[in-house]
Amino acid sequence: DPRLQGISKAIRVVPDFPIPGIMFQDITTLLLDHKAFKDTVDIFVDRYRDMGISVVAGIEARGFVFGPSIALAIGAKFVPLRKPNKLPGEVISEAYVLEYGTDRLEMHVGAIEPGERALVIDDLVATGGTLSAAVRLLGRAHGGRSC
Ligand code: 5GP
Repeated sequence: DPRLQGISKAIRVVPDFPIPGIMFQDITTLLLDHKAFKDTVDIFVDRYRDMGISVVAGIEARGFVFGPSIALAIGAKFVPLRKPNKLPGEVISEAYVLEYGTDRLEMHVGAIEPGERALVIDDLVATGGTLSAAVRLLGRAHGGRSC
C-alpha cells in the first residue's frame, strides 16, 4: 500500500523514552499531518467496513484517537477500554503485563451485546500483552467475538 510509507515517515521515533532502551514511536507527529492521519484511518476503514463489525473497542489512551473515526466510518458503536478506576459504572477487567510495568483494562458491563463482532483499536502493538487483554475482555463480555 503506497500510503504506508507516508504514515511511517510521519511517526517520530524518540530514543530512550520513557525509560532508557525504549525506541518510543510517537504518533502525535502523525496527527499533525492531515494526509497521514486520514490515510491511517482510511486503511482500517477499507479493511474492516464490510465485515459485520458493530463495535469498535478503543484502548486508552491512543485507541481513543483513532477508534471513534473508524467506528463512525464503518457504522459501528465505540466502546472505551479504560485504565483502572476511570469508568463510573459496573465493569469487568483484565490484567496484563506491559513492555514497562503492569496494568489493567476495564470495560462497562452491558457495552456489548451477545454475539456482537468487535474490532480492537490501539496505536501500537509491542509485546501484544495489551491487545491480548483487550481480546480476553471482549471475549468475556456476553460471548462477544473480536477480530
Ligand atoms: P504491548 O502491550 O503490546 O507490549 O504495548 C502496547 C501498548 O503500549 C499500547 O497501548 C501502546 O499505546 C503502548 N506503547 C508501547 N510502546 C509504545 C511506543 O513506542 N509508542 C507508543 N505510542 N505507544 C507505545
